[in-house]
Amino acid sequence: MTTTTTIPVVPALDHDEEARALITSTGIVVPVLETVIGGWRVRTPCQNETVLLAGTPIDRVHVVIDAGHGGSAEPGAVGVNGIVESELNLQVALHVEQLLEAAGYEVLLTRYSDYRLPIITRAEIANTLGADLLVSIHHNAGTAGASPAPGSEVYHARDSVEGKRLAGLIREEAVAQLADFEADWVAGPDGGPDEGVTYRLDARTGDDFYGMVRRPTIPAVITEMSYLGNPTEAALLETPGYRLAEAEAVVAGIVRWYETEDPGSGFVEPSYQIDSSGGGGGTTGCVDPELG
Ligand SMILES: [Zn+2]
Repeated sequence: MTTTTTIPVVPALDHDEEARALITSTGIVVPVLETVIGGWRVRTPCQNETVLLAGTPIDRVHVVIDAGHGGSAEPGAVGVNGIVESELNLQVALHVEQLLEAAGYEVLLTRYSDYRLPIITRAEIANTLGADLLVSIHHNAGTAGASPAPGSEVYHARDSVEGKRLAGLIREEAVAQLADFEADWVAGPDGGPDEGVTYRLDARTGDDFYGMVRRPTIPAVITEMSYLGNPTEAALLETPGYRLAEAEAVVAGIVRWYETEDPGSGFVEPSYQIDSSGGGGGTTGCVDPELG
């Protein structure tokens, strides 16, 4: 009997040295519009243009990881124990980057520190790089109905086949890994049918409501793995082990997206659409951070 061992291979990137994004000398990630003599013309976080003479150019990455929210005006949800979502999202995103790089993947975060970063710029970073995938890390506000299992939600664009598959794989890994922890889990809304993998349409346009899955031209998902408004989940989110488990679930889902044709699971049809102008993520009143 012969056995065949398949060694997973990380797809090679075509490193052509063309700068598509830049990490500025102050650590800010910006999309590159063009290379100019001695520097780069870039889009700033607040969608202005400027020329920078220093920084670390990035030509390609496999995956872009986005830590949702940021800056004093857009902290996102705040846990019952005072955990701020923008900071938590970044900590989980940094774990994801570290684990993916250890597995051989090249990764860029949309932000590495705490500042205002409109959704249009987050998507532009991923689009300009032409990455394979974009994962936006978030945590749910409020609370919901009691559930026997983690009420993790992952959102994808309605018509993105590969975004949907990635969402299903991350959701599968999230429920499996987080269920090892003890909590009074909740799932929403009110224990209803939207827990799981789904999409959310804008009732006014019929298009995807969330800019983080609508704007990227690559498969993109938003993870809402745990509820900051639920006291027992918020307590877990204070522990490094639980944050690492969330990151491990994201990484396991991404690696399975690359290495298998597994379909994922947890898909549900949305039970409602959103009929509002939404809150946050725009450029109004945006003040750029120091770019160096
Ligand atoms: Zn959020």
